[in-house]
Amino acid sequence: MSKEKFSGVKGMNDMLPQDAAIWQTVQQTAVNVLERYGYQEIRTPILENTKVFTRGVGEVTDIVEKEMYSFTDSMNGDQLTLRPEGTSAVVRCVNENNLLYGATQRLWYCGPMFRHERPQRGRYRQFHQFGAEALGMAGPDIDAEMIVMLNRIWKELGVGHVRLELNTLGALPERQAHRDALIKYFEANRDVLDEEAQRRLYTNPLRILDTKNPDMQDLVNAAPRLLDYLGEESRGFLARMEEMVSAAGIDYTINPRLVRGLDYYNHTVFEWITEKLGAQGTICGGGRYDPLIEMLGGRPAPGVGFAMGMERVIELMRECGNVPTRTQTDVYVIHHDGDAHVKAMLLAEQLRDRGIRVIVHPGTAGMKNQMKKADASGARFAVFATEDELAGGNVSVKSLREGETSFAEQTTVSLESAAEAVANAFAK
Ligand code: ATP
Ligand code: MG
Repeated sequence: MSKEKFSGVKGMNDMLPQDAAIWQTVQQTAVNVLERYGYQEIRTPILENTKVFTRGVGEVTDIVEKEMYSFTDSMNGDQLTLRPEGTSAVVRCVNENNLLYGATQRLWYCGPMFRHERPQRGRYRQFHQFGAEALGMAGPDIDAEMIVMLNRIWKELGVGHVRLELNTLGALPERQAHRDALIKYFEANRDVLDEEAQRRLYTNPLRILDTKNPDMQDLVNAAPRLLDYLGEESRGFLARMEEMVSAAGIDYTINPRLVRGLDYYNHTVFEWITEKLGAQGTICGGGRYDPLIEMLGGRPAPGVGFAMGMERVIELMRECGNVPTRTQTDVYVIHHDGDAHVKAMLLAEQLRDRGIRVIVHPGTAGMKNQMKKADASGARFAVFATEDELAGGNVSVKSLREGETSFAEQTTVSLESAAEAVANAFAK
């Protein structure tokens, strides 16, 4: 037999059982909030035809240029990609199933995404996004509602202060005028541009504003601002959204350099940022993408959405000392072998009928050994199904926690009433 012990794939993490509670808390809290705004779940496959993403994310982006896990299906030659993000896949699904015919959609999704990046804190090759898309609604009320909804999620997760940055990408003609001005400006400063910026100068100059290169910061700080090219309608859109966000008591800053860099993003863009996670401090990004649905083959309809990075939100909860824990079980059943074991199993079923989490000691072992396991399980009560007790038609129950008032002393109860008695102790 081979003795090789295998490792997981670099940049892709296991979720261990001790982390289950925090993952479930984040997802359940987010879902619970979104349901209060009328959102429903949607699930799409992890694989899509590559075109969905080259179209839906854009050719001249980090994701499509260098981060996608793409391969040819050896069975039929199809070009496939592990999804690097959710929006394009959701829009593909909505179009394919005509979900916007005479309707609007409020959708959420949660699941793994794949990007071939350099793994580091807060940046993985498989990571998880919780996201939402509001489709068929032109805004700006929906954009504002999305921000209010996210603010509620942070509050209910107890993650402390998360900063909101807002910007607008305006409408296409405004962006074109700004783009021309940007190209002119960068052409005049060509010597300062790095290789990537040179390459993007004519394909996606907006994205240059997003550079992390320290040598280019002065240059991009002084670049022409889209805000100065906005017409009345775009200004009105932004102003109305700001009004609603402010009315909800949410602080924000306008960051003119916040872009998503694609031609079909318009109006609202936003990010939620924390200072507690170092360089990877953006826990959520989103924006409006009105032209996207049509670009992916659907009837024209507006859309706006967000995606939050689950790993980053979870790490933030840890930084805030807000780590929910959950024991493995409520009741541990200790028993003798033979008929007692069968009775123990049936009693456990009665407890589970009442919603109680029960572990019946597996196999046979001495009482002392079983007690140790019961203590380690985190259970609140131990039930003893011993031959002696069962001979009198009874079992006994004992609290495993200090300060517990029910069954503080080991107490004998009839086998018939045991499930009810334990359930009553939980109800207290
Ligand atoms: P960044 O600038 O950090 O690369 P991005 O613009 O690529 O982020 P989006 O595509 O907007 O990120 O994804 C939304 C959110 O998903 C991010 O704000 C972040 O919280 C999370 N995220 C993105 N990439 C990763 C990754 N490789 N590992 C973990 N989380 C990620
Ligand atoms: Mg990225």
